[in-house]
Amino acid sequence: MPISLSLKTRSMTQRLALCLALLSAVLVGGSFFAIGNALHEAQQRDAMSALTDQARSHARELHTRLLAAEAMVQSAAVADASGSALRQRLMRSEVIRGVVLLPQDAPHPPVALGDVTRLALSGGQVLLRSAQRPGAAPSLYLVRSVGGALQPQVAYFEISRDWLWQGMEPGANGALALAVLDGSGQPLYASEPLMPELASLFARERTSSPPPAGEAALRSWIVGGSEWRGAVASVLPEDAHLSADRWTIIASNPVPSALPAWLDVARPLPLLLLLAAGLAALICLFLRAAWESPLTALRESILGLGQGNYQRQSLGAARDTARLLLADYNRAVAALEHRQGCLAHLGAIDRVLLDSPDVESCLDRLLARVCNITGCTGAMLALLDPDATDHGRAYVGGPGLHLPVTRISLDALLLSQLCQEEAGLTVARFETGRHSLLEPLREQGAEYFWLWPVIVQETLVAVLAVGYAAAPQVDPEVAGHGTECARRISVALSNSARGEALYRQAHFDALTGLPNRLLFRDRLQQELAGVTEGRGRGALLYVDLDHFKKINDTVGHGAGDQMLQIVAQRLRSCVKDGDTVARLGGDEFTVILRIVATADGAQRVANRIIEQLQQPVNIGGRDHFVKASIGITLFPDDGAELDELMRNADLAMYRAKESGRSRAVFYDRSMQRMPALAAESGLYRALQRREFSLYYQPQYKLDDGSLIGLEALLRWQPPREAMRYPGEFVPAAEQSGLIVDIGAWVLEAACEQLARWHSEGIAPQRLALNVSVHQLRQPDFPRLVRRVLERVGIAPAMIEFEITESVFADEEARATLQRLASIGVSLALDDFGTGYSSLGYLRQHPVQTIKIDRSFIEEVAYNETAATLAETMITMAHALGKQVVAEGVETMEQLVFLRERRCDQAQGFYFSRPVSAIDVAELLRASIAHEAGAGRVAAG
Ligand code: C2E
Ligand code: MG
Ligand code: MG
Repeated sequence: MPISLSLKTRSMTQRLALCLALLSAVLVGGSFFAIGNALHEAQQRDAMSALTDQARSHARELHTRLLAAEAMVQSAAVADASGSALRQRLMRSEVIRGVVLLPQDAPHPPVALGDVTRLALSGGQVLLRSAQRPGAAPSLYLVRSVGGALQPQVAYFEISRDWLWQGMEPGANGALALAVLDGSGQPLYASEPLMPELASLFARERTSSPPPAGEAALRSWIVGGSEWRGAVASVLPEDAHLSADRWTIIASNPVPSALPAWLDVARPLPLLLLLAAGLAALICLFLRAAWESPLTALRESILGLGQGNYQRQSLGAARDTARLLLADYNRAVAALEHRQGCLAHLGAIDRVLLDSPDVESCLDRLLARVCNITGCTGAMLALLDPDATDHGRAYVGGPGLHLPVTRISLDALLLSQLCQEEAGLTVARFETGRHSLLEPLREQGAEYFWLWPVIVQETLVAVLAVGYAAAPQVDPEVAGHGTECARRISVALSNSARGEALYRQAHFDALTGLPNRLLFRDRLQQELAGVTEGRGRGALLYVDLDHFKKINDTVGHGAGDQMLQIVAQRLRSCVKDGDTVARLGGDEFTVILRIVATADGAQRVANRIIEQLQQPVNIGGRDHFVKASIGITLFPDDGAELDELMRNADLAMYRAKESGRSRAVFYDRSMQRMPALAAESGLYRALQRREFSLYYQPQYKLDDGSLIGLEALLRWQPPREAMRYPGEFVPAAEQSGLIVDIGAWVLEAACEQLARWHSEGIAPQRLALNVSVHQLRQPDFPRLVRRVLERVGIAPAMIEFEITESVFADEEARATLQRLASIGVSLALDDFGTGYSSLGYLRQHPVQTIKIDRSFIEEVAYNETAATLAETMITMAHALGKQVVAEGVETMEQLVFLRERRCDQAQGFYFSRPVSAIDVAELLRASIAHEAGAGRVAAG
């Protein structure tokens, strides 16, 4: 675009100059042409009149000479009729060249005389005759009779040609050609040899229309391709007595071309053309200076506008419209620059508001920008108190002000009026009372004010005001900018209100209103930073409610929520104002005690919490009792890292649970030494967040290969981490006692799954569940089993509990085995061969199945000892009437070996890896289908 613009301006000037040059050339040339033509025509007219004059004067001259010759002939004839004397006299005359006297009827007279002629002669008349002779110029004679009646003779006087044609020679009159024709058109005289066609033309001219005597007629003709013109005049008048015919004289010359005349005139033309070109160049220069240069500069400035360069144009040599254009441009640029400046300030206000967490923290910068935009002496934001809008606090900003804050009172009428005026109100005369909100600005020397409402959700929340010391110029833009600023402040205020709500949402627990995990971590981080700077000691308490799940299960989640709210209130009531009570989720709470002089202080608070929580909670007309286990860690004594402290408090809390619950335990470093304990706190949350699942490994009968049962195996899928296997976390769960809760979940989940399969008609005959000795130690475990089985509607015979030999060493657990057997569930001894392997126990306890540990099966194919041991185990178990299941069958050889040794059942990767409930259901369906087919074959 800029290029085409530049091209246009340049070519416009050039084209204009070129046009001017051409126009002046055409005008000058045309004028010269016209002048040349006119001149040529005038010359032609002059030439014509000269020709006419020539023809006429020569005609007159010839006439005069002929009359003179006649007079001489008359007188000569009268004086001497003898002839010789006549001749002698005439010899001295230059008029008559010679005379011949002949009798009237002489045979060869110089000119032939007809009868009429003789008659005229006899009457004494002098006659003029011409005699044409071939090859010679014609002779002219004056003829008269002499001698009287006795001796009549005719005298032939030959007129001297030199005398007669004297003065008509060629060249005497420039380019003039003269010719005299007789009555028959024969040339008597020609100043130049007449071309034949010209002679015949003259002859025709002579005969066609001879002009009257004394007159001359103009004629033109073309001979030999060139134009001629001439004047024709009669030499002898019509009544001339000398001759019967009239002579004519033709004065002619060729028509000259107009070129010489034109060239003559055009001689100054090159100079004039040069002048015209010079003038055009001057005009071009003028246009350049007056238009093109300003326009080019204007174009550059316009391009510069895009880069924010608001350069003004000097009017310089610009003239007329270009000058006006530049002046207008300068005005427009000034306005644009001002507007851009305002927009920049508004943009800066936006940035200030966006960067600041709330409006008040950036008021100094904001009000400074308002001053820049409005050109005021001071700007003020009055924030109305949310609960009483007739009061507020005013922040005053401006040059040299450090944002003083003043309490102000506001006039309700003014505020209601202001609400209607988004474009703002002006105050030119301050009134105490009504305008008292402007007092802080007035103290800064302002006398004139402009106010705008700041409205959030249709409520006036603030007033933006600017003040001027002198009456400001009435500028509608100021009103607009003020309104813009007020709008931005209102958006920022509503954002910060919304931000506050979002902040609450993100940082506080919706149920209890306590800080959530995020805010808790933030606060703890602050406290840790404080204590590392040497600000005393703090304590972190990890509070976990004991058996809270029971409340949810027995009285419902609504009641559970109420309980949590009450617990939150009680916890809060146990701590000081600066301390933090947070809910991490579920029934886990934390307490940060900011300043504890000794461990006793923390202990006292913990005791108070336990006491408080132990108070009955009445929900739905029933009293409930909540207990809590608390882990306490001190900082910086036990650690200065947030996660480390969390872990410490967590470990201490588990220790409290292990030690019988409803107590507070301080962290001590020995807790760290417990293997795998680091994982246990994760396990607890895994249970709460349902990160556990069950996989199932099928077990097959070796005699017919049918699927006889499944073993449920626990899996832990922490979020965004790899799946964990029991070997990685069951020992920790057992150590922490959490295996009891986890085992309870396994029992419920497995039984519910079995019930679902049952309803689908694909349930296996038996589902084996691994139970830990810790579970068996729980006196109410059999009760739990019965309750679950009843709830899901599964026959106890379908459940087999896999126990390990360590159970036999534990008295409480042994007792449970009996009670379980009485329920009707079967028992299998897992990992047989790796523990005590006491045959006595096998005999004593109601174990129906033994499972040979994978370590034996693994080696049976190549290790004779292992093979012998496995074989012995099978034989022995059979001898005791027990079923034998081989674990970890991975190869065909192992399978063949086991079959040969009459092992009853087997499981292992050779058949199937443990798979998810969905995948194992496919195997179950396939097995059912297979059995149905086998049944049909057998029946058939
Ligand atoms: P287990 O009861 O002896 O279970 C058999 C283990 O051997 C399973 O390991 C199974 O995946 C693995 N296994 C089965 N067939 C083969 C095979 O052919 N080759 C190999 N290499 N391994 C095979 P997993 O699932 O890792 O379980 C390990 C142990 O964790 C179990 O040994 C059991 O003692 C314990 N466990 C599993 N689930 C539970 C549970 O729900 N509660 C309790 N208390 N313990 C469980
Ligand atoms: Mg097992
Ligand atoms: Mg096993």
